[in-house]
Amino acid sequence: MFLDVISLINSCVMTNTHYEKYKDTIKKVARRNYYKRIRLLNEYLDNQSCINCGESETVCLKFHPHNSEIRKLSKRVGTNEESRKHIIYLIDNSAVLCSNCWIKLDNDLIELI
Ligand SMILES: [Zn+2]
Repeated sequence: MFLDVISLINSCVMTNTHYEKYKDTIKKVARRNYYKRIRLLNEYLDNQSCINCGESETVCLKFHPHNSEIRKLSKRVGTNEESRKHIIYLIDNSAVLCSNCWIKLDNDLIELI
């Protein structure tokens, strides 16, 4: 029993040491993958403009109505073809709008043809 505890503690220490040793690398890779996923969205929006007023500034653009789901998914899922399919499906079923027009549409102030 006592030996079990000792070996358990030892394995925890080992895991922690391993994590400490590679912490920076793990973080770096995670961050790189995160930006890669976000970049896919931004690269897509780069060539888009608001379908209502023509605003083309990427940071102003949103997807209607699936904006939060698209952004949430692209932060979470991997960048392989399979997991991107659902995002692409949502993008295909969304309209690109700038923040202002997004709010207007959400409040029924404008209508999309
Ligand atoms: Zn607009």
